[in-house]
Amino acid sequence: MTQHSTTRQKQAGNRRTSPGDRRVSQGFPRLCCRGIGEITVGNIPGNNLGTPNAITAQGQPIYETQPDGSVVFRGFQSIITISTNASTAFNNGSAYDNAITLLHELGHVYANLRMATAITPDNNLTAAGVAASQTNAALVRSRCPQ
Ligand SMILES: [Zn+2]
Repeated sequence: MTQHSTTRQKQAGNRRTSPGDRRVSQGFPRLCCRGIGEITVGNIPGNNLGTPNAITAQGQPIYETQPDGSVVFRGFQSIITISTNASTAFNNGSAYDNAITLLHELGHVYANLRMATAITPDNNLTAAGVAASQTNAALVRSRCPQ
């Protein structure tokens, strides 16, 4: 383990990295976007349906104070986590596949911010969620052909 990867693990906070962590952990630091959320890497538990490639979790609510003092709800922060599991597609796919994954997850960020998106909620730990996730990925691929 290099000093650089140790620093990255500290940046990932309490998220653990898997021993198979290779490609994702190399040069993919945690990114923050002024209160909208973050992109990080970590171990995403799977089940008999598989191991998610990436997930977008809903974070804290975002409120904006208006000039008149009123407070407006703007949505929720998002935490995108890219799986560090070496067996997942993000660690085995092409740059195009990884771009599709990121665009898919950013669609969930739009939803969390209450912005228009064609990406629907999905949960890769249920059969219906896996199907919804595949539909979302197919939609992104259709709009962003290789
Ligand atoms: Zn999704």
